[in-house]
Parts: sequence; C-alpha cells; structure tokens
Amino acid sequence: MTGAEIEGVQVATAHWIGGERVASAATFEDVSPIDETVLAEVSRGTAAETDRAVATAREGADVWGGTTPKERAEVLHRIADLVEERIPQLAAVETRDNGSLLRSMRNSVMPRVARNFRFFADQLTELGESFEMNGFESRTEWDPSGVTVVITPWNAPLMLATWRVAPALAAGNAVVLKPPEWAPLTASMLADITREAGMPDGAFNVVQGIGEEAGAALTAHPEVDRIAFTGSIETGKLVAQAAAANLTPASLELGGKSPFVAFADADLDAVVKQAVNQFDNAGQVCLSGTRLIVERSMHDAFLDRFVEAAGAIVQGDPREDATDIGPQITRQHFERVDGFVQRAKTEGAKAIVGGGPNEELGGLYYRPTLFTDVPAGAEILRKEVFGPVLTLQTFESEDEAIFLANETEYGLAAILYTGDRDRAERVSSRLVAGTVWVNCFFVRDLRAPFGGARSSGVGREGGVYSFDFYADVKNVCSAPWEA
Ligand code: NAD
Repeated sequence: MTGAEIEGVQVATAHWIGGERVASAATFEDVSPIDETVLAEVSRGTAAETDRAVATAREGADVWGGTTPKERAEVLHRIADLVEERIPQLAAVETRDNGSLLRSMRNSVMPRVARNFRFFADQLTELGESFEMNGFESRTEWDPSGVTVVITPWNAPLMLATWRVAPALAAGNAVVLKPPEWAPLTASMLADITREAGMPDGAFNVVQGIGEEAGAALTAHPEVDRIAFTGSIETGKLVAQAAAANLTPASLELGGKSPFVAFADADLDAVVKQAVNQFDNAGQVCLSGTRLIVERSMHDAFLDRFVEAAGAIVQGDPREDATDIGPQITRQHFERVDGFVQRAKTEGAKAIVGGGPNEELGGLYYRPTLFTDVPAGAEILRKEVFGPVLTLQTFESEDEAIFLANETEYGLAAILYTGDRDRAERVSSRLVAGTVWVNCFFVRDLRAPFGGARSSGVGREGGVYSFDFYADVKNVCSAPWEA
C-alpha cells in the first residue's frame, strides 16, 4: 500500500475507489504548513481515475440507495463512533497537514465531524410529510438521487467534507470526494473508517488530485447527479459552468468578507474578545467577520482594547497548547495574503497591528494585522484575503452601519453586537447574509439553514435543506381509496 507516516499515524496516499486502494503513476507533493516539509507523495488523479470512480459509484449507489433509511442510519452512526475513537489520530494528521490548532481539532472540529454523521443519520429517519386536500393525499418521498461529487477546500478539510458527505450518504447517494490538494490526508483516513463501519464497496470513494485536473473532470462528468462544492468564488463559477452543461444540480458554498458590526450599547469586553477571535485559524475561515464596523463613540476604547488583546496573541506551532494562531497554508497563499497587505498600504491604509510576515518565526507565519484609515473602495475592503487581516471602519447611525455592512459582493455571514433587542431585530433583518450571528459567532445548530447570499453561494444546506438538495424529492398524490 502506498502511504506515509504522519505524526505516528499510517495514512494511505492512493485513491479509494470501489472499496480498494488505487494508486496513480503520477503523484503530487503534500507539504506541511508548519515547517514546509514534504509529508507525502499523493496519487494525482486524472480522467482515468475519475471515470472509474464515477462508474464504481454508480454501482455503489444501486446497493447503498437500496438500503432502508434505518440501515443507512446505523452505518452512519458507526462511522461517527469510529471518528470519535480516532479523534487523536485524525486531529494530529489534520494539524500537520493544514496547520490548524491541534487543540481546536481535538476539542471541537473532530467532534463536529462525528456530529455531522450522527445528525444527518437521525434527521434521515425523521423525514416525511403528507398533505390532505378533498380526500386526495400528497405524500413526500425523499429518494436517493444517485452519484454525488463533493469537492472541498483545505481550511477545515474533514469537517467541511463530512458536512456534505454525511447528508449525501444519508440520502442514499454514493459519493465521490475530491479533497483539497493542499490538505488531502484526513479524507483518506475517512475512507478506511467507512469500510470498517460497513459501507458497501463503491458507496464512498475518494479521488485525490489537483483541482483543475481531477476536480474539473468530476464536475464535467455527465454521469454525476449532484455536485456539492465548497471553495472560492472563482472556482465556484467554473464548477457552475461545468454543471450547467449537464444540468447537474450544484450546491455552492463560496467565499466571504463578512461584516462585524458593533454598536456602542454592546458589551465592550465581549465585542473585543470576539473581534480578536476573527483571527482564528490564522484568518483562514470563510465566515470570519473581517470587516470590523464599530460605532464612532466606542471607536477609541475599542481600538485601545483591541490592540492590547491582539498583542497578547501567541503565534507559533499549532501543535503547542499555548498557540493561538498558526501558519498560512502554503507559500503561494502566504504571498497572496502579503500582496493584499502591501497593496492596502499603498492605497493609504494604516497597519495599526501587524502588517507583514512574522520575521521571528519565519516560514509561513503571518502577523495578525488590523488596518485603520482605509479609503472607501480600497481593495482590502472589497476582496476576501483569507488570511489574518482585518479592517476597521466606523459609523454614526444605524443606516450607515447597515450601508457599510452590505457594501460588498459577498453575503456569507454577518456578526452583530448590540445590547438592544429591538435594534438586533431591525438590523439583522436588513443585513444581506446567509447567517446573522447576534452577540455570538460560529454557533451551528445543524437544523438551521446554512449558505451564502449574493456571490457567497448558491443554495442552502443544513437539516431538511440538505435533503432537499441531495435527495430526489417526490410527491406521491393518491386519490381517495374506497373504504
Ligand atoms: P479553491 O476554490 O481554490 O479550491 C476548492 C476546491 O476546488 C479544491 O479541492 C480544489 O482542488 C478544487 N478545484 C480547483 N479548481 C477546480 C476546478 N476547475 N474544477 C473543480 N474543482 C476545482 O478554494 P480554496 O483555496 O481551497 O479554499 C478557500 C476558499 O473556500 C475561500 O474562498 C473560502 O471562503 C471558501 N470556503 C467557503 C466555505 C463556505 O462554507 N462557504 C467554507 C470554507 C471555505
């Protein structure tokens, strides 16, 4: 078996197709962001492997889609059990592979992976509704739709993959997962878990590879029934075009540039704590409220406190418990982030915190950065950086706060801090976003809809919204039966 030892864990580096490991002649290098060492040579899928995976998934879909919801739920719960048993190994490999904090992986992210499976397993068995009109009964059925392709980014690889894989499998579909080439390893571990949990061969497949190669081949494949894509807006447009050619329904979860709006009537301690928290995962979080928009009367107090709190952030090796933020994912991404920061300075913005690489640590460590005095319309206000870079703007009125918050092509999330409940309702209803968090952040009830407004996405998932997408929803309408 081709594989690599990562933090003492043996991880397969070949594809997983039809219940077996399939290696490609060509490979790509998987590099750790912690120290830029090559962790593994991973199979580099081409059309040959994607065709084989889709054909195998088609057969797998017949078997898996023929099982009852209860049988599927049992397998999904076994997957969750195995994920929970292996949290230490999954967390260690994910951290080495993508540079996220080990303690977050252990304490919240990997438990959420298990919860993704448990939640959709339970939700599945609760589906079903019927309506009666003049004696005619309309009953909703949630049929499997066939083969689902799932394509995911590197910033939270296993959590984001399973957020789509779990409902697709629960709906009775077979899945072909194409993990991110910058952090491909935990997807491979998930393949082993699905086999041990009793998933039939072909129901879950992993094709490793480069986006423009394996990813593009999968999204253009005419035998695919659903495409679940998470990634950038640019790639999302390519995926949408490929999907349109085959009329394949696509659910797109894309980038963000979320506003973080704080009114002076909010609890300042909570505002500062949550604002600094937007540097989490070294800023590589789609939902981050990267545009801090605070009421002018609280600006000075907020800024003083923010600068102090940001100065206490510990940057370093994400495997250390004391570390708050780790490195950027790759050299290429690090340079992209730095490009945004340097251009912001050229446009006149002032880096009041950070503003460049962390020279003491070297490598891919970028200083948490806050810009003030940002000219209206500057690139740093308009484009997603996906690094530890925030901007600070002020407002004088509710209308101005809403105008600034909505002045964007994105619409993934918005964070709102206020002590006034009526204001919270007024403002949240006028914010353009898939999710508005009021006096909180990142709370995810998996029954609630999730997705992006404007360019941040197409479609909603979560709870029954996920089944609307992954299942073929059917109405069976019966005339009254004679008694
Ligand atoms: P990306 O778009 O570069 O890549 C995402 C995935 O798409 C990868 O697996 C990649 O291999 C694949 N891909 C690349 N080109 C492709 C093509 N032509 N056809 C098919 N697949 C292709 O994004 P990224 O840099 O990996 O991730 C960062 C982006 O993801 C950010 O914009 C971030 O906001 C977004 N994101 C969104 C959410 C959400 O829930 N809305 C969650 C996490 C990340």
